[in-house]
Amino acid sequence: MIVTCFKCKRHSELDPVFVGFELHKLKKKKPSHYQAVCPACRAVTKVSVKEMQDELDQAAEDIQKMIAEYEEEKAKAKAEKKAQAKEKVKSKAKAKPKV
Ligand SMILES: [Zn+2]
Repeated sequence: MIVTCFKCKRHSELDPVFVGFELHKLKKKKPSHYQAVCPACRAVTKVSVKEMQDELDQAAEDIQKMIAEYEEEKAKAKAEKKAQAKEKVKSKAKAKPKV
């Protein structure tokens, strides 16, 4: 989908996979707009998600893949942080058995 910057009128192509991924990160159930940042002047142009829905649907598989990878990375980073914190407060006491 081609977006025209409202400020400098420059056209830029939006990658539906990237858009879908960004929309996911917004953590909104039904975002109505995507905020496209102009590569030339950094102005934000609002794009209706409805207008992009067809492209998003077509890219749904790739979007899900990207989201899954992102979530995995996030979980990994979190686990690493947790492990580090655990390492810090390691006590002599034995870990409690899981219930
Ligand atoms: Zn612009």
